[in-house]
Amino acid sequence: MSSQNIQQSQHNFEQAQKLLPGGVNSPVRAFKGVGGTPRFFDHAKGAYVTDVDGNTYIDYVGSWGPMILGHAHDAVIQGIQETAEKGVSFGAPCELEIDLAQMVIDMVPSIDVIRFVSSGSEATMSALRLARGFTGRDKFIKFDGGYHGHADGFLVKAGSGAATFGEPDSAGVPADYAKLTLTAPFNDIEAVKDLFRQNKDEISCIIVEPVPGNTGVMDLYNNGFLQFLRDICTQEGALLIFDEVMSGFRVSSGGAQKRFAITPDLTCLGKIIGGGLPVGAYGGREEIMRKISPDGPVYQAGTLSGNPLAMRAGIETLSRLQEEDFYVALESKSKRLFEGLLAGCKAAGVPATGNRFGSMFTIFFTELDQVTCGSDVSGHCDLAFFGKFFNEMLNEGVYLAPSQYEAAFVSAAHTDKDIDNTIAAAERVLARLTA
Ligand SMILES: *Cc1c(COP(=O)(O)O)cnc(C)c1O
Repeated sequence: MSSQNIQQSQHNFEQAQKLLPGGVNSPVRAFKGVGGTPRFFDHAKGAYVTDVDGNTYIDYVGSWGPMILGHAHDAVIQGIQETAEKGVSFGAPCELEIDLAQMVIDMVPSIDVIRFVSSGSEATMSALRLARGFTGRDKFIKFDGGYHGHADGFLVKAGSGAATFGEPDSAGVPADYAKLTLTAPFNDIEAVKDLFRQNKDEISCIIVEPVPGNTGVMDLYNNGFLQFLRDICTQEGALLIFDEVMSGFRVSSGGAQKRFAITPDLTCLGKIIGGGLPVGAYGGREEIMRKISPDGPVYQAGTLSGNPLAMRAGIETLSRLQEEDFYVALESKSKRLFEGLLAGCKAAGVPATGNRFGSMFTIFFTELDQVTCGSDVSGHCDLAFFGKFFNEMLNEGVYLAPSQYEAAFVSAAHTDKDIDNTIAAAERVLARLTA
């Protein structure tokens, strides 16, 4: 428990803070939302990560999603090693690009033609450029609390209440540029209709995470919101972009679009598609994708795009996902964990609710019966309690995402015993916190 030794992590974090902004290379790793010292990891295998002080944790971050097979999966590691022997980058075509392209096109319903890039952010910013180039329109709609990587136009959230013109969320984003970003709350049909009325023939696309996971997991499907977005885009001549960087290969072998049978015009992928190496991709209907350079006028390029090591890690990962019952087994474990955690909260008298699709979920500490949009989280969740829960779970050897605004991910490597141990740890923690 709190006797956990984290000296080396503390020392490393002090050093890192001198050298890197906040001591990290991506902000949420710094534990700002929850307090405490970020652990420096030394190695990981299966469902476990081990820090530099030798503490081992059951991991539900999974590198923020990619490690759906578990860490250091034998086939993935062997594939990377074999490929590395043949050279790590050519900057010229290689056969592995064809193999991964064919796999993704077979698995993801909306994708006929695909372009590989090196991150999810690159995929979304390129898809937006393509949607603008294809439609000849500059504005687009995103949702409050929807995360689409860190490109300028996406770092905009809604003002509170009704849908409004965007204000930049980050210094350095030109206000004039942010004005092209229109925002609405999740699940707010009227707000989206208003935006189309006010910006007739100016909206190039709607970009949405079909299973939002970046403000905690949300449900846009069961009340018909996703189908509404599909229909209004078709009516208005705008493209529907599913940002499946997180939900792709996570909620089914073909992502949310396969699970829900709703077909977007363009799809963005990342995370799992690279099996832990830096890969992103965007793809869609042939007539749209042929607008990309060198076939068409929309420019987009990348020195390391289609990198052989990254392609091979993706191929090995996606191959395993096609095994019989892969998702059935993963989902039943995830459901048991999710329900066990909620039952633990109930038993301890801690108000909580949650959303889960497949093996991604969020438990929200709130009095609300349902969490349906970003402002439910910022306005109605007990973030201070989450911080305590997070740190106590860490002391119990369970590594959750260090923010209430994030999803938990279960991998194929988590055993029933891991799930039981996690639920038991949560029960102990909740008992302590309510004592
Ligand atoms: C992680 C994520 C991104 C950004 O991907 P990076 O690889 O971090 O650039 C974009 N969209 C969604 C939905 C994500 O979850």
